Amino acid sequence: MDGPDKPGHDGTGGGAPTKRSRAAPAPAPAPPPIPRRNKAVANAAAAVHGRTVSPWSDAEITEAFTRFEAQDPEPNGELDHTDAFTLLVAVVLSAQATDTGVNKATKGLFAAASTPAAMVALGEDEVAHHIRTLGLFRGKAKNVVELSRLLLERHAGVVPQDREALEALPGVGRKTANVVLNIAFGVPTIAVDTHLFRVANRTGLAPGATPLAVELGLEARIPDRFKLHAHHWLILHGRYICKAAKPACSRCLITDLCRWPDKNF
Ligand code: SF4
Repeated sequence: MDGPDKPGHDGTGGGAPTKRSRAAPAPAPAPPPIPRRNKAVANAAAAVHGRTVSPWSDAEITEAFTRFEAQDPEPNGELDHTDAFTLLVAVVLSAQATDTGVNKATKGLFAAASTPAAMVALGEDEVAHHIRTLGLFRGKAKNVVELSRLLLERHAGVVPQDREALEALPGVGRKTANVVLNIAFGVPTIAVDTHLFRVANRTGLAPGATPLAVELGLEARIPDRFKLHAHHWLILHGRYICKAAKPACSRCLITDLCRWPDKNF
């Protein structure tokens, strides 16, 4: 519990404390509120530092990705899927949810419907029932059924390998399109989620105030041979090592390259 400040009792009514309050010592001033070290704060702090830390040199970027590659040559995402359509649905469902939570929800959903036609036939209420453990599940169910209908109407039921066509589907933004293009079609896109945004800013890899600025910075600076897997290396690094509240700097394989001034040892 963070113990948020409570309003003082003096003068707030609800009784007749006049005699006692005259004799009692003045209450100590309330301590200032303690800032929460949540992800948003950590990311915002990283972005602020990102504007002041010196960006990595080309040699440092190459060194960092050489280490990521040596540690995990073929990194994989953690969303369960069997093809481009189930990947697309899983990524749409992953907004503000953990991959573990999405995988639990899609186990039953994909058993019931794993194609656009089957998803439309299943219908919004049944989809919502399968994914009811996820936040915003009603809106997500609506998007999944509608994007399935549009895939049938516009693309013969096939997930298009085209950013513009993907982003025209409900619930699909730039990040989701980048993930689908990368994993399903092998396009070297770099999807910037909360983890990549934090890591890019903290380290000095590609500082930027917005996810798009970070994405463009990463695309411009990461050598081509590392681009296909860069998204996975960085997301896994952010999820398990360079965590928002307590980065595990003592276990980090790029700690000597990282510019973050608040390392946690
Ligand atoms: S040294 Fe710490 S802050 Fe820097 S990348 Fe590694 S875990 Fe993150």
